[in-house]
Amino acid sequence: MKINIIGAGLAGSEAAYQLSKRGHEVNIYEVKRLKRNPVQVTNNFGELVCSNSLRSDDLLNAVGTLKEEMRMLDSLIIKAAEFARVPAGGSLAVDREIFSNYITKVLEENELINIFDQEIDEIEKDAITLIASGPLTTESLQNKINSLLGSDDFYFFDAVAPIIKKESINMEIAFRKNRYEKGETEDYINCPMNKEQYDLFYNELINAETSIAHLEDDQTLKYFEGCMPVEGMAKRGEKTLLFGPMKPQGLRNLDGTNNYAVVQLRQDDAIDSLYNIVGFQTNLKWPEQKRVFSLIPGLENAEFVRYGVMHKNNFINSPRVLNEFMQLEKNENIFFAGQITGVEGYVESTASGILAAINIDKKIKNKEMISPPPSTVLGSLIHYINNASATNFQPMKANWGIVSEISGIDKKNGKNAKKEAYSNRALEDMKKFITKL
Ligand SMILES: Cc1cc2nc3c(=O)[nH]c(=O)nc-3n(C[C@H](O)[C@H](O)[C@H](O)COP(=O)(O)OP(=O)(O)OC[C@H]3O[C@@H](n4cnc5c(N)ncnc54)[C@H](O)[C@@H]3O)c2cc1C
Repeated sequence: MKINIIGAGLAGSEAAYQLSKRGHEVNIYEVKRLKRNPVQVTNNFGELVCSNSLRSDDLLNAVGTLKEEMRMLDSLIIKAAEFARVPAGGSLAVDREIFSNYITKVLEENELINIFDQEIDEIEKDAITLIASGPLTTESLQNKINSLLGSDDFYFFDAVAPIIKKESINMEIAFRKNRYEKGETEDYINCPMNKEQYDLFYNELINAETSIAHLEDDQTLKYFEGCMPVEGMAKRGEKTLLFGPMKPQGLRNLDGTNNYAVVQLRQDDAIDSLYNIVGFQTNLKWPEQKRVFSLIPGLENAEFVRYGVMHKNNFINSPRVLNEFMQLEKNENIFFAGQITGVEGYVESTASGILAAINIDKKIKNKEMISPPPSTVLGSLIHYINNASATNFQPMKANWGIVSEISGIDKKNGKNAKKEAYSNRALEDMKKFITKL
């Protein structure tokens, strides 16, 4: 059966390579040589559009372990990164030109891979299609995906509040309570502020550095109107936040005293390890988010799993439409991979491309499709995009908070004992998964 891949970015290039390795002929369609998007600057495949880092290479870090899992799966993108590596402490950073030249050469020289410079806006009926067109999918394909899934299941913008680890919140300052004590369980964590603390926070917030919106087209602005960044709201007036996300009403301290302002945090994952700052979608630069949001009492030592972002980002409602094999529930010939599935980041996008290729191979060979267990980092990401809340689905990058829990490891076994256990188990379980390929 014919295999078409849309997009020769990170996920699409990886999937093409993985499929060719398994003996399949692949057509890969890429539009950038005809029409670049606003962040592309070269004609190469697997272009890194922003940072040149594939983040930490330390196994104690979930993304470091994910890269190790990908090495075990013979990832083309990781091989390219090793080839193009530049010194960056514990991170895997690359010379982006050498990196994407390597990927382009491997694809162009592969006899099983046919490359077409073409914009795709239709899905062939009698072929297997892998849609890996990324966060900036062209408009004509966006329309096609929209008609395929319905607009409720295809999002166009990311307006995300920062997500932090629960264990890093100082509960000697923060307290659990729902506004006006509604509900049976105390779901929210509240960070109280007095006037002095608010004034300091407010001044730092309105003067903090923002990132330039990646795509300031008309459509972007239209969507953003309904979803103001917290700093934008603050700039409307000194007290605006006190009537919005920092409203203190109904959130007295446990001793009954009033607060001047309260920041609320809401649970973000099923295992109750991650919390997002409610209403704090933001366009601040990442280091600025850390600096300014750490001024919130109780968040002095907050560990950010994901920073807030506001940019164009096409992604599908994976919890509702995709299965754990990266296949569309309602059309078994269509697979998705990359950032468009709601995994977030270069490494995560690439890794999802490996899994899509594995399952396209299985499908063509009439074998049972497979997915790694959530004890592996790749498996946890796939599990997350399949099982997160479909009503408020937001992209996720690799982190230990979404990997299935190991209980009974005490901090007294050493600061890194838990991470070490997670990493070791992930690699062991990936080894077992590979025997099923
Ligand atoms: C502005 C921006 C900055 C980012 N910065 C970072 C960062 O610094 N670090 C990080 O880890 N992640 C970053 N990301 C997130 C993400 O990791 C990258 O976007 C990553 O490249 C996603 O990989 P992908 O394979 O899913 O998509 P891409 O790498 O974007 O590949 C998709 C490809 O599909 C092509 N395409 C689109 N539509 C069509 C069509 N109709 N027909 C044919 N081809 C088509 C595109 O030209 C593109 O080459 C960023 C995202 C954005 C939008």
